[in-house]
Amino acid sequence: MPNRETRHAELAEKYLPKGLLERFRERADVYDRENRFFDEDLAELTEQGYLTLFVPEEFGGPGLSLNEVSRLQQRLATAAPATALAVNMHLMCIGVVSAMFARGDRSLGYVFDEAMAGEIFAFGVSEPANDWVLQDSNTLAEPQEDGGYLLTGVKIFTSLSPVWTRLIAHGLDSTDTANPTLVYGFLERSADGISVSDHWDVLGMRASQSRTTILTKVRMRPDRIARRMPTGRHPDLLTFAITSHFQLLIGSVYAGLARRALELAAQGLKSRSSAKSGTTYAEVPEFRARLADAHMEYMAVPAQLDTYSRDVDDLVDHGAGWPLRLVSARLNASTVARHAVETALVCAGGTGFNNTSELSRLHRDAAASLFHPPSADAARPMYASALLDDN
Ligand SMILES: Cc1cc2nc3c(=O)[nH]c(=O)nc-3n(C[C@H](O)[C@H](O)[C@H](O)COP(=O)(O)OP(=O)(O)OC[C@H]3O[C@@H](n4cnc5c(N)ncnc54)[C@H](O)[C@@H]3O)c2cc1C
Repeated sequence: MPNRETRHAELAEKYLPKGLLERFRERADVYDRENRFFDEDLAELTEQGYLTLFVPEEFGGPGLSLNEVSRLQQRLATAAPATALAVNMHLMCIGVVSAMFARGDRSLGYVFDEAMAGEIFAFGVSEPANDWVLQDSNTLAEPQEDGGYLLTGVKIFTSLSPVWTRLIAHGLDSTDTANPTLVYGFLERSADGISVSDHWDVLGMRASQSRTTILTKVRMRPDRIARRMPTGRHPDLLTFAITSHFQLLIGSVYAGLARRALELAAQGLKSRSSAKSGTTYAEVPEFRARLADAHMEYMAVPAQLDTYSRDVDDLVDHGAGWPLRLVSARLNASTVARHAVETALVCAGGTGFNNTSELSRLHRDAAASLFHPPSADAARPMYASALLDDN
């Protein structure tokens, strides 16, 4: 068995070689400025087999683990955070099914076949004013005689809007008003009743083209229903798999962004000279200390992602301790990314403030981390309660 770091290096070389990353980095600037989708990046990622990373070997894929994909996503995000964030949504859908398989639930195996056939999966969970997120839905799910549903509602921030062909979505069947049922399943882009908003003009992560999706009586086929469950907190393998992959893979994107910001911070210090000290800023103690602090803060982020992604892969059962771990890994990555970019802006000086600089884009991309659920404010009660409340 090769050393784990050797394996990570081999996978990086195989799926995201340096030349490819450089092309992604160059294009990230263009996509951002022109506010357009990362078509060329996606074509190259598809060519590399990147969209099938999680597909198990028995379905013809390479069967990578969450830990391995997390590392790759960190690497991709050092070059193109918006590409990484959007492709995350597809990877997450396949990873969720792979985690369910590893735990004995083989009911969603068709997702692997579809991913191998080139279908692109997106994540349609976020809805306006639904801060229950996975545990409730404002989308109406009308039961049909054949066992399927018609979904009507609004999904916001659907990354990969220009290209997705499958959407994991949820809706609420309130036929039994006393016991409403939350329905999860997959929609097909070719179904009637799907429209995508033309509007997308946001601060950062612009290439993700995470537009609003409007569903009007969209058919969810009976054989594409993944779960029916009560609303509220209800332990379930599907929602555990979504939460673990969502939190750790989103965290991976912001970890990669933070890493790149630190590299730019160091480059900035080396390239600026100080007339007062007669050296570059890389020799000025205050700036060295600032960079050192940001570096130290960053170090905990990949460590947390590594540990928890390995625990998911190894089927470790942290029980009620899982959300505490998963959410803190993603929130820490987000906070550190925003701090790292600010440090880099100080280190690079006014150059980074220029709208054409990579740092200026990273600053805007990092701001998107404020909006992934749960926010720090939404998460605090859970952390306080774990220590203060007797259960
Ligand atoms: C770059 C990025 C990519 C994301 N990708 C995904 C993804 O792929 N899948 C996913 O499920 N979530 C995604 N998210 C969503 C994210 O996880 C949050 O759920 C989202 O940011 C909304 O959080 P909020 O609590 O601020 O929303 P809220 O405050 O509840 O809603 C605010 C948003 O909803 C819009 N809105 C409000 N009412 C309507 C309406 N009637 N019709 C249309 N729009 C309306 C507003 O314009 C605003 O954008 C992404 C977020 C970001 C920033």
